[in-house]
Amino acid sequence: FNVPTPRNEPVLSYAPGSKERAALKRALEEGRSKVLDIPMYIGGDEVRTGNKIAITPPHDHKHLLAHFHEGDSTHVEQAINAALGAKELWAGLGWEHRASIFLKAADLLAGPYRATINAATMLGQSKNAYQAEIDAACEFIDFLRFNVHFMTQIYAEQPESSPGVWNRMEYRPLEGFTFAVTPFNFTAIAGNLPASMALMGNTVIWKPAYTQVYAANVIMLVLKEAGLPDGVINLIYADGPVVGEVVFNHRDFGGLHFTGSTAVFQNMWKTIGQNIHKYRSYPRIVGETGGKDFIMVHKSANAKEVATAISRGAFEFQGQKCSAASRCYIPSNLWNDVKKFLLEDLKTFKMGPTEDFGNFINAVIDERAFNSISGYIEKARQNPLNEIIAGGGYDKSKGYFIEPTVIETKDPLSITMCEEIFGPVITVYVYHEENFEQTLELVDSTSPYALTGSIFAKDRYAVELATKKLSNSAGNFYINDKPTGAVVGQQPFGGARGSGTNDKAGAKVNLLRWTSLRTIKETF
Ligand code: GLU
Repeated sequence: FNVPTPRNEPVLSYAPGSKERAALKRALEEGRSKVLDIPMYIGGDEVRTGNKIAITPPHDHKHLLAHFHEGDSTHVEQAINAALGAKELWAGLGWEHRASIFLKAADLLAGPYRATINAATMLGQSKNAYQAEIDAACEFIDFLRFNVHFMTQIYAEQPESSPGVWNRMEYRPLEGFTFAVTPFNFTAIAGNLPASMALMGNTVIWKPAYTQVYAANVIMLVLKEAGLPDGVINLIYADGPVVGEVVFNHRDFGGLHFTGSTAVFQNMWKTIGQNIHKYRSYPRIVGETGGKDFIMVHKSANAKEVATAISRGAFEFQGQKCSAASRCYIPSNLWNDVKKFLLEDLKTFKMGPTEDFGNFINAVIDERAFNSISGYIEKARQNPLNEIIAGGGYDKSKGYFIEPTVIETKDPLSITMCEEIFGPVITVYVYHEENFEQTLELVDSTSPYALTGSIFAKDRYAVELATKKLSNSAGNFYINDKPTGAVVGQQPFGGARGSGTNDKAGAKVNLLRWTSLRTIKETF
């Protein structure tokens, strides 16, 4: 299996005067200068239903970016038929041809489409330039290239044979069609979920969040330009329950690749369970869901490093990451210093539209998110055991802006310490510095999630104790670093408990889920 060894795509700096900055500015202007009419892509067809839904940037209600065409259950059926129709040819195509389509897509994203996909992510999802570059360009490119590498590692694994017997393992795609459901917060995840299933020979129905359609459209155009045959990935926009009703009742439903909320994933799993007798095979279910990610600090930690981890881990992309730090446990000896550095850091954060590259904080995704996050801030304000020490303000007059908010609490079980907020809010609990071990137990017992978490300490005994005690508290555990920003091929990403099935994104274990093995024994 001779494939190019993947290397992580270098992150461009977008420094003033750089070529990439000029190109990105041009792509943003171009994006703003026209109103796109975005179709669904079913089989070889662009489908326009006339039921148009407007897309505006989350940071600028007045600007119309595009309309997309919403479908209904008949379109879901058409998409399933297209996927089933394309299956035999696609599954029978040599692995190198499938690989080469996705490697070509990676090269298109690294080159001619880089500015376009970053601009779409900045306008449609309100990510700043640097965060768009990390997500829509680098992480997506890495997923595509590393997936090919992992696929060949999987295919290379073969059983032992013996004299007169040749044993072989055949890595077939799942029977039927597969279903990808993707969230608004990462363009890379949007692309990776359908692409990873398709790479392994499956055909796919892909339903992105409505707040992600603008970038999803670019992904589809790139995949088509890279040579993806019609019907292999079918991109549809319809209400979740409408799509679920058709997909989960279909006997050929073969697997679900999901990233989104815990509640939606659990509902889907229940529906699949209720319909289990209808399917040809037990469907594969892979989900990455919520998080209540922690930063746990020991008295030996460096206060400045902790402050930086909080401001970056909690507030990058307005905290709209499953991995975002949202609860922090700080020993009393360090709190004054951490607080000072943190408040200084927050003063340098400017908030506003993504088109101005000086803005670090942009808007949250939509009105529902704005209402939910601001609701949490108000609940926190009403609790006399809390003090809002930074931020706390919000304004939706121009866009959905929420200030980076730090709550100091005396109640480690208060709502904002325990529930997922998915916004720019972190709650800090200051514990007595001698109560490190009890606080570790608190960290583990507080949250039903287990996605990411950090320990900050110089003391190796403390690091070891935290690593052991928090063994089940996070699928991605960071020592002296923020709990966000996993890099494909370096920190495979995913968690257990309420955070998902822990089938690490961008890893061999994930790709294994999209293949169904046949063992062949031949005797001579
Ligand atoms: N992989 C991302 C990170 O490590 C988070 C992905 C997500 O929010 O779903 O920050």
